[in-house]
This record gives sequence, structure tokens and C-alpha cells, in this order.
Amino acid sequence: MKDHSPNSWEARADRHSFYGFTDLPTIADRGAVVLTGGTGPYIHDVHGRQYLDANSGLWNMVAGFDHPGLTEAAQNAYAKFPGYHAFFGRMAEETVALSEKLIEVSPFADGKVFYTNSGSEANDTMVKMLWLLGGAEGKPERRKIITRKNAYHGVTAVSASMTGKPYNSVFGLPLPEFLHLTCPHYWREGQEGETEAEFTQRLAKELEDLIAREGADTIAGFFAEPVMGAGGVIPPSEGYFQAIQPILKAHGIPLISDEVICGFGRTGEVWGCETYDFMPDAIISSKCLTAGFFPMGAVILGPELTARLQAASEAIEEFPHGFTASGHPVGSAIALKAIDVILNEGLLEQSRALTPSFEAGMAEIMARHDNIGEVRGKGLMGALEAVRDRATKTPFEGHLSVSERIANACTDQGLICRPLGQAIVLCPPFIMTDAHMAEMFEKLDAALTGVFLDVA
Ligand SMILES: *Cc1c(COP(=O)(O)O)cnc(C)c1O
Repeated sequence: MKDHSPNSWEARADRHSFYGFTDLPTIADRGAVVLTGGTGPYIHDVHGRQYLDANSGLWNMVAGFDHPGLTEAAQNAYAKFPGYHAFFGRMAEETVALSEKLIEVSPFADGKVFYTNSGSEANDTMVKMLWLLGGAEGKPERRKIITRKNAYHGVTAVSASMTGKPYNSVFGLPLPEFLHLTCPHYWREGQEGETEAEFTQRLAKELEDLIAREGADTIAGFFAEPVMGAGGVIPPSEGYFQAIQPILKAHGIPLISDEVICGFGRTGEVWGCETYDFMPDAIISSKCLTAGFFPMGAVILGPELTARLQAASEAIEEFPHGFTASGHPVGSAIALKAIDVILNEGLLEQSRALTPSFEAGMAEIMARHDNIGEVRGKGLMGALEAVRDRATKTPFEGHLSVSERIANACTDQGLICRPLGQAIVLCPPFIMTDAHMAEMFEKLDAALTGVFLDVA
């Protein structure tokens, strides 16, 4: 498939561009997929091939790649006010309106919003806010951040330290003061003979022990994705948030819900914390916030953290933090439109309507392929875990790169889906139809059949 001529798009992509999170041997072999654009849930490459993107770009393009309302909102916003910041007490009117809207649709009765350009920066910002609070409230030792193994919170030095993935060791991360608990994945982490409820209790006990060992006074906050996304789509074990929230509350440790993926409908409700019925102290949002049409992140503080941060900032006379493009007027206008499209123009309903056929499609794949060991997910996010042996949950040998092979076989079929560990992740855009859904599972099924035959 790869065009080896020196002026091919593939060669030009290689020459002067770095790829993020890309398996370089695969690219050396297959070449990059260089894109020209997209229509609905499809993307197009420079060779005129079309791919159904079952990953909504990176979870974010939930309204597809050419939504006319979003494009128009962006064009109008650029014509009106193409750029400004939110420093020194100045702010675009669109940004003021977006903050009002975010608090309105948040689970909070009141609160404040701080803008960033990405989810990583939003997590970084939240950590700095918590550290600032520690200092301002006479508890400078209150700095430790708790997350879970397999969590994904981003790639900046702080958010990568929160991310519970072994690959960050190549950077000498995590930084000190970042602690990682067991991933709440019952299928993989549950012990012999342990029920799911017992598993959840064990994890709650682990949190309690950690707090006792480290000292509650040294812990600044606990961050969790309602459903872990880039860790491989891992919904919490039964009763997880109900078990841990009271422990955190008892020790005065803020619970931050990283809703960068879950926020704006992915799990079937506006927020993942609504799906799993817990009340965080703050929400981290990005990705779907602009339906992927602009890079933007937001820290949404609930009433208590708002009041405390307000008091701390006033004491030092300013909050010394912000990005040049924080609260960008165009991004704010696009986010306002994206929220409207998702909540008021039927996109959330459409995602809910698609969920039964999504779940049925994944269950059918599992029924047809013995080498799928687990199907998991919530709403329109799902993962299929490939295994050598379903009964013993034995994974395929690492050198076989099974999930990469499946993803490559899908690409050959005109379907984009993502390998994560030994799982294949599906998070389709909310604009899909039943026909798109059928196409997605048909192509995935063909790819799985070929690869499992190969590695048997
Ligand atoms: C993607 C992601 C981030 C990081 O967002 P970027 O915009 O890539 O920096 C943080 N948290 C979660 C849960 C994510 O999925």
C-alpha cells in the first residue's frame, strides 16, 4: 500500500513531521495515512480512499467532520473577533457566555470556569490550583495527587505524572508526589474467588490505607475519569465511586472528575459523574467541549473550590496562571455552538438511540470470535479485549502485536479503530446512522477473522 517514491505524501510526512503515539515500524512498513478532510463520520486520504472513523478522531469529533452549524459558527466567530486572551481582567463576550453555559449544564449549583487549550493543560491547571490552595490555607505540605494505574490524564509533565502508564518512565516520570492506585478493572484485577463487590471494597480499603500511610494532610486531590478512556475503556467496578467518595470526603480530599472523554454525552448522560451518580468538586473538560472543532480545555470548579480559590487568589492579589489563548473568542463561540448541537439539536438523543445497536454489535462480535475475552464499555464507548484463551484470560504473546494487526487490517478495510494494549477501542461519532454502525461491525468482523486466523 505504501508509496515509496521520495515525493510521495508518505515520504514527505516522514521527512519533517513527528508522529505522536505511533508505532514507527508500522509506519516504516505501511506509511502514514495523509488526510484531506472528512464527510460525516468518514475521513478521506490523499489517494481518494475513504475510512469510517470509529474513534471520532480522538474521541472528540462527535458531530462528524463537516457539521455545517459548527463550521458556520466558526466562520462567523473568525469574522467577528478572531483572537484575544483572558488576562488582565479582559475577556471576550463569547467567553463570558460560555462560562455561564458551562455552569448551567454542570452538576454544580454555582461555580467558575478557567480555560486552557487542551485537556492536559486543564489537569495541570487544576493541580496548580490545589497546590496554591495548600499554600494559601497554611498547609504547604498538602501536595500529593492520587490517580489510578492505567488512567490517562494527559502528556504535560504534571498530567503525564498523573497518567498511570508505564511508557512515561522513558521521561523519568512520574514526578515525586504522584501516587497511583489499582485500576478498577474487575475482569483483569479481580482475584480468584473475589466477587465484584468485594473487589470494589478492596480498592476502597487500598485508598484508605494509602491515606493513612501518607497522611491526609499531605494529599491535595484525587483525580478519576468516570470511565477510563485511553487506559482501554474501563468502566468502574460496581459501586466504585459510592465506595471511594465518602472516604475522600471524610479526609477533606477533593474529588476531581476528568471528563475530557466522558463529558458531553459519551456515556449517555451529559457528564460521566451523572452516569455513575457521584458529585465531584471540579470537572475537567476538553475534547467534545468544541466537538473537536477547536483546541480548548476547561476547569469547571464547583462552589466550594471556587470560594476557596477566590479567597486564595485575593490574598495574593492575582491568580498567576493562564495561557495566551485561554478563553479564545472563536473557541468559545464554537464551544457554545457544540454544546447547543449536542444538548439541544438532538445529538445526545441520537447517541442514546445508537447505544443498543452498539452494544448488540459488540456482543455479537464476542459471540463470533473465541479470541475476544471481554467486551466492555458504557454508552458509545467500548472495547473488545483480544485473548489467546478466553477461559484463562491469557493474552496473546506481545511480539504478535495482535491489536495493532487488527487495527491495520481495519484500516485496509476502510475502518479506523484504535489498538490499546490488546484491546480494540470503538468510540463512534454520535452522528452515525444504523447503516454506519452495521458497516463498522462488518469491517471489524472481517479484520478479526483474518488476524485471528493468522495468529492461531
Ligand atoms: C485526552 C485526554 C486528556 C488530555 O487531553 P489533551 O487535549 O490531549 O491534552 C486528559 N484526560 C483525559 C481523560 C483524556 O482522555
